[in-house]
Amino acid sequence: MNLSGLILPNIDIPTLAVARAIIQLTLAGLILWTGSRQVRLAGARWWAAGLAVHGLALLVFTYRYLPLESVTVVINHLGFGLSSAFILIGFWRFAGRPVRHGLVALIVGVSMASLLLWEWWMPNARFRILTTASGQVVYLLALQALLTAAPRREMAGIYRALRWITIAYAVLMVWAYGSVGGVLPTTARVPAGYHGILFSVGSMLFMLSLAVGFVALQYAEITSRHAEQARRDWLTGLLNRRGLREALAERAADPAAASCRALLVIDADEFKAVNDRYGHAIGDRLLATLSEGLMHNAEPADLVARMGGEEFLFLRPDAGLAEAERLAEQLRTELARQSLDGPDGPIQVTVSIGLALTPADEPFDAALQRADQALYRAKQAGRNRVVVNGNAGFAPARTPVT
Ligand code: GH3
Ligand code: MG
Ligand code: MG
Repeated sequence: MNLSGLILPNIDIPTLAVARAIIQLTLAGLILWTGSRQVRLAGARWWAAGLAVHGLALLVFTYRYLPLESVTVVINHLGFGLSSAFILIGFWRFAGRPVRHGLVALIVGVSMASLLLWEWWMPNARFRILTTASGQVVYLLALQALLTAAPRREMAGIYRALRWITIAYAVLMVWAYGSVGGVLPTTARVPAGYHGILFSVGSMLFMLSLAVGFVALQYAEITSRHAEQARRDWLTGLLNRRGLREALAERAADPAAASCRALLVIDADEFKAVNDRYGHAIGDRLLATLSEGLMHNAEPADLVARMGGEEFLFLRPDAGLAEAERLAEQLRTELARQSLDGPDGPIQVTVSIGLALTPADEPFDAALQRADQALYRAKQAGRNRVVVNGNAGFAPARTPVT
């Protein structure tokens, strides 16, 4: 009994194949276009190629009256093999991982071997289809492995969804190929039956889900890059105020957050004079050089931000007074040593630093205000020095070192 009419409408597989081909070629174009919006285009190109090659293979499949049916079979098999390989390469390139050439060769090689063996040497449509299906199993296993680790946190949900979709498709494929190798819509010779229709629809849903996944991944990539840019100062690459606030909020939510932090506000001395003398462009480069000096001294848990102009913030968690003072002195001396080549010798600036130790329960703005007060004192006292503002009132100014 033919169940296809009961469970699925009596879909004409070649017509469906043409529709799929058109949709996939359109989606390939869309993916290339979204890809061109990002700097990292590599993954998108391969994904688009995978969808397009698969689409073309589907189109060729519909030429059932082609005089040379072997040509149809060859293009069809190779198209499916290449498309799977391209999609895998797209995932490797997207995640910035090395391409596993051995796997790619295996997947394409199985399609070719299947053709050589069962199309020319010992023609057998059923064996040919089953051999090609085994190449697809390798592809789906590799896809499973790739989808276990998303390159960015924001993409974890998309990877998880694609994994489940891949598992569902693999189950359908093994069932369809395994039950009746001969009814698959791989060539025009094979009549459309229940398995054929179900597999055709399943395979269409799989490819469309992948295509939607590719667009979603690129969208996630673009938005997370923009979010990162919004958190960073364009000149120095340090956190900006917004980035600092976000990082502090993340820390506040962390129960293992440090109980006492050292907060340093660092301001370049007489920086206006640098601009006036050498021009704004040199001033910019000097600010970038100062920020490199700050990053050079930062540990992974430290937060370093540009608060605006020539003022920076350095936050070290879990620091006592002695360590904080040592750090501040080190920054002061190292930043003063940072230099740029100028027309009449090296260009350097000194910095003044206001230091406040802040317990975890003190609001950040209150601590910042105390550090600012200390900085003001440092400027008043002649610049190029560190002044500490203790938790309870001012500590005496450090001995100026000039
Ligand atoms: P002080 O020792 O009191 O801090 O003196 P100062 O000249 O550093 O301070 P002031 O606040 O008077 O001037 C800060 C100068 O920093 C003014 C501005 O020209 C310069 N500045 C601020 N932002 C930038 C920037 O993005 N690029 C450049 N090149 N200069 C900047
Ligand atoms: Mg200044
Ligand atoms: Mg300033």
